[in-house]
Amino acid sequence: MKLKIAVLAGDGIGPEVTAEATAVLRAVAAAGGHTFEYIELPVGGTAITNFGTPLPDKTLQESLACDAVLMGAVGDNKFNALPPSERPEAGLLKIRKELGGFANLRPSVAYPALAENSPLRAEVTKDVDILFVRELLGGLYFGEPRWWDKEKKLAHNTMVYSADEVTRVAKVAFELAQKRKKKVTSVDKANVLEVSQLWRATVDEVAKGYPDVKLEHQLVDSMAIHLMNIPRNFDVVLTENLFGDILSDESGVITGSLGMLPSATIGGKVNLYEPVHGSAPDIAGTGKANPLGAILTAAMVLRHSGNLEAEAKAIEDSVTAVLDKGLRTADIARGAAFVKTGEMGKAVLDELNTRLK
Ligand code: NAD
Repeated sequence: MKLKIAVLAGDGIGPEVTAEATAVLRAVAAAGGHTFEYIELPVGGTAITNFGTPLPDKTLQESLACDAVLMGAVGDNKFNALPPSERPEAGLLKIRKELGGFANLRPSVAYPALAENSPLRAEVTKDVDILFVRELLGGLYFGEPRWWDKEKKLAHNTMVYSADEVTRVAKVAFELAQKRKKKVTSVDKANVLEVSQLWRATVDEVAKGYPDVKLEHQLVDSMAIHLMNIPRNFDVVLTENLFGDILSDESGVITGSLGMLPSATIGGKVNLYEPVHGSAPDIAGTGKANPLGAILTAAMVLRHSGNLEAEAKAIEDSVTAVLDKGLRTADIARGAAFVKTGEMGKAVLDELNTRLK
């Protein structure tokens, strides 16, 4: 298997965690005889410093010519005085838009070894393994017209979806569910919103093509409660843009640390993979960054761009194994002894190499 990967490490802890993510990818390539090519490209604050823009055209064009884009994180306090359109984060927003992915995948997994890190009781988080599939290009965040009339003290946003937009993201959810526990929970507010009624009717239609997958509908308000009470009841959770933004963040409490969460955005010209966390300037350069979110993001690259399911699973199992052995970075150590970023990465790599043999 050949894979050309654009590596946009970015700012702060971005390069620190991305180095650990590419190390596991290199191990998978070496063990399986795969050819993975890495093209390192500037983005964010680093790109502003060296090229005067958060997303140089070369970064965008070369990324578009790759099979996958692996991001670290962007953001640097020294650019805080710049207008939003010139700040490091503008580079991230632009590349997300240009790559055009419409389905944002965010796993929310409970690791038994980290049960005490979640504010939820261990018996509630036990066996939780949810995959959020959030529609990313439509709904309230992009709907027109949108305006704020400050004199009239009135503002307006538009929630709009076409059946085609719902169909394409629903298909992603059902296809992923077929490879998991074969259940899709579609979230809407169909008791109030016409957009949600269209959403529900369209998802029902798509479901007919996947008779092996069980479909249930949940209203977004009750879903927010179920996620905290009975999260293990869910497998794939399909949502529109705004509801998915809120619910996937809420479910972050199940895993217990921002540094543990991976994500992928698929369906566009090139898939984009990034840990959920930001550049964490407060801990950059201290060795306190947890690389596991970035390493789990590398597993998603293999699963969704390389079709290498066994290798993706080997990375995820290696992460579980190092946690079971008691290894902790500062964010998940709960005041106890912790290892540095590179030591955590090396421990996962050692586990992985045994599994890949
Ligand atoms: P952040 O995610 O960078 O950090 C929030 C808190 O979590 C901090 O205390 C940080 O130390 C901790 N944290 C984050 N990732 C961690 C990790 N891997 N290991 C251990 N601890 C970790 O969010 P923020 O502080 O709100 O933002 C910092 C900068 O990052 C800002 O410039 C922001 O705009 C940017 N940002 C970028 C992205 C992205 O690139 N995708 C996402 C969010 C924020």
